[in-house]
Amino acid sequence: MAASLVFRLHDGAPELVREVLLERGWEEYDGEEQEEEDWNLYWRVSAFRHSEYLKLLPWQRLNHHPKSVGITRKDYLARNLRRMRATFGSSLYNFSPMAFILPNDYTRFIAEYTKQRLTRGLSGYWICKPVDLSRGRGIFIFCDIKDLIYDSPVIVQRYISNPLLISGYKFDLRIYVCVKSFHPLTVYMHQEGLVRFATEKYNLSTLDNLYAHLTNTSINKCGPFYTTNKERVGQGCKWTMSKFRYFLHSQDVNELLLWQKIKNIVTLTILTIAPSVPSSPNCVELFGFDILIDSTYKPWLLEVNYSPALTLDCQADVAVKKGLISDLIDLMNYRAIDRLRGRAYQRPKSSKQPCRNALNPILGSHSRITRAKVSRERHPSLASYLTDNRALNLSDVTNHDDTVTEREPSEEGDSAKPDISQEGLGSLRSKPAAGPWKLPLEGTRASHRVALPPLRVGDFILTFPFNEATLEASQHKLDVKLAVQELHKLTSQLASGPSRLDKNKLRRQEEEVKTDEGVRTCDSDEGFESLFWGPKEPPLLCIGCFLSEKYKSQSIKSDTQN
Ligand code: ADP
Repeated sequence: MAASLVFRLHDGAPELVREVLLERGWEEYDGEEQEEEDWNLYWRVSAFRHSEYLKLLPWQRLNHHPKSVGITRKDYLARNLRRMRATFGSSLYNFSPMAFILPNDYTRFIAEYTKQRLTRGLSGYWICKPVDLSRGRGIFIFCDIKDLIYDSPVIVQRYISNPLLISGYKFDLRIYVCVKSFHPLTVYMHQEGLVRFATEKYNLSTLDNLYAHLTNTSINKCGPFYTTNKERVGQGCKWTMSKFRYFLHSQDVNELLLWQKIKNIVTLTILTIAPSVPSSPNCVELFGFDILIDSTYKPWLLEVNYSPALTLDCQADVAVKKGLISDLIDLMNYRAIDRLRGRAYQRPKSSKQPCRNALNPILGSHSRITRAKVSRERHPSLASYLTDNRALNLSDVTNHDDTVTEREPSEEGDSAKPDISQEGLGSLRSKPAAGPWKLPLEGTRASHRVALPPLRVGDFILTFPFNEATLEASQHKLDVKLAVQELHKLTSQLASGPSRLDKNKLRRQEEEVKTDEGVRTCDSDEGFESLFWGPKEPPLLCIGCFLSEKYKSQSIKSDTQN
């Protein structure tokens, strides 16, 4: 019988991860019984040590990339966004509230505070947050500088004082984003997510009422109105994103543009760190993006969460998070061979060159990587294949499925490869809708095509690369400038109105997405257009919105300036 895949949970790792993996037929790692390398997935809430990346073996995955903290600590995020704004202009990087890192930026803050005070009087609001805390801890809102008191590094951010309200309640969106790979940059956004409400009505005259101003569940579930059935919001403090889309549907708003702007925020934020994150193809990262929508329907980035909470507090959590983790496991793309772990790498007695045969199925062709050495002492069965002084390059293995430059058949020929059909582990919630599609790169021969990662895995929708140009831009040294320009172009097109899109083309694309589960060749950007990220209910945006007569006839609130 085939071995099971094995997961290892560090202390404090979410119970939900254990539950989902056990349901899928995985086994939990037992340090007493199993060898040190005998696991496929190691999950930690906090960061891994540098040495843990170096030790990774081909069949192993980690749930964090190194150095992704560049966007998840509030001060690093503020600094990185400021740098990008200086480089690419504030018309694109205008989605995070103005922020100052104190104490360093104190003088600059005072200058801005004074300026606002002169123009707006007492109606300028600020929010102060400790840089390295989460769950609303240590946060307060103030108008008057005399109320700004802090004893550790904080960021002071302009408080978005005109949030979009539902029945008088403030809310923000928790969007789940998976960076499958930083090199080449491959980003998926989950169609489900959460809407997190404050539990008391929004009121600017009670700035110290956290139940009215903060939307953290950890705060609101302790509030006096958490269990009350609140007008439209209901009990508790969460909706699924699908429910929110039904709400949006009832508003006169350009939904497509809103989702595109949120997608832009995610992409532009990830681009701030993408070039500096070392390549680690064995890793994935699940980020939680917190987005606040203001009363003009402009989305703002509040923060990015490292290890977003996976506790199940209510029905909305169950509906969203179980599927999310299951889809994430599918994105990690385990193969039948990964179940065997070290045993897959033992030398077949008859072969003179077993190493390449054994490793072929997991060899990719990423070239810009940190060279990680697999020590012969630590893993003798694998090391025995390595000739003297040759290190196994970890970025050359695993994540072999995606964005691999197609190679000429190897010397051994494809027939030499073991059968590594997609693992089909446990309950695959839904197969990738399409892909990998092969896009020919301009000026290259057909044999050097770049494979487009699956457009969809479960409810994860590919959002970067999003067209042929960005696919190309992501391949070698990430061309951030080009990626930013493409995003700008796309948004301008959307802002000019969905009616420009051809109805029949969209219908055709939707049909293709439904039926196509195999590999096919695509020589334009059409493949990318067929899936537009957005909450899945009501049905896919490309159909549900573009074809809706409502969007042709009504004047659309398009906030094109933002
Ligand atoms: P934490 O990591 O502690 O959750 P956040 O930055 O997410 O910190 O802030 C917590 C909550 O405070 C958010 O969910 C949101 O409701 C509110 N909030 C944060 N920043 C702003 C802002 N600039 N304007 C309006 N509300 C904000």
